[in-house]
Amino acid sequence: MRNIAIAIDGPAAAGKSTIAKKVAKHYNFVYIDTGAMYRAFTWYVLKRGLDPQDEEASNSLIPEVKVRLTADHKVFVNDTDVSSAIREPNVSGNVSYIASYPKIRLFLTEQQREMAKTNSVVMDGRDIGTYVLPNADVKIFQTASVAVRAKRRYLENLEKGINTSLEEIEKELTMRDHIDSTRAMAPLKKADDAFALDTDDLSIDEVVAKIIKIVDKKIGVK
Ligand code: C5P
Repeated sequence: MRNIAIAIDGPAAAGKSTIAKKVAKHYNFVYIDTGAMYRAFTWYVLKRGLDPQDEEASNSLIPEVKVRLTADHKVFVNDTDVSSAIREPNVSGNVSYIASYPKIRLFLTEQQREMAKTNSVVMDGRDIGTYVLPNADVKIFQTASVAVRAKRRYLENLEKGINTSLEEIEKELTMRDHIDSTRAMAPLKKADDAFALDTDDLSIDEVVAKIIKIVDKKIGVK
């Protein structure tokens, strides 16, 4: 059977990764968290003591960064497990600068395309349906109001022991969405042929069920 690609894009903390993981499990596809790849690169820039707002310095690290996503959803930079570290506020607050640099985007986009070539995937991000996989079989643009997204992220963070106020989270999400949707290369944007899914009033299971229905119809499962 040929490989299938499902693209899930949308603003920060819209619940894409939770949903994408469940959809991937349902179909036994590989889940690819592209945001984790930008976060991993950002973690490395900070670890090397460089300024993420310095494009040239950040670009210069491309040859030494190897980002690896494992089947059990861990994220490695070279040999270091950064799965938790990439969720910390210092990474979240800087990742959108790194993600605006074309050279770094090209570097990571190539790897994302390669993964979709060799596997059926559910890939979540900002530019999957518009730029990384413009021929994806199904495209979803998942949104929620900033208040709902901030509250969800706040609760998620508490569980992980990350203590950031609701107000700070809302500010960070708004800033990231602004940088992500106004950058020159592959900005956050709904693809014309994406299904828009507003999740404000939907539970996780309801969103998953809706996506599965769309996918089954599109790929011909009865
Ligand atoms: O999905 P997540 O919120 O973890 O993504 C972190 C950041 O990575 C985003 O705010 C965005 O700047 C960047 N990103 C991107 N393109 C993607 C995925 C993430 O620019 N496909």
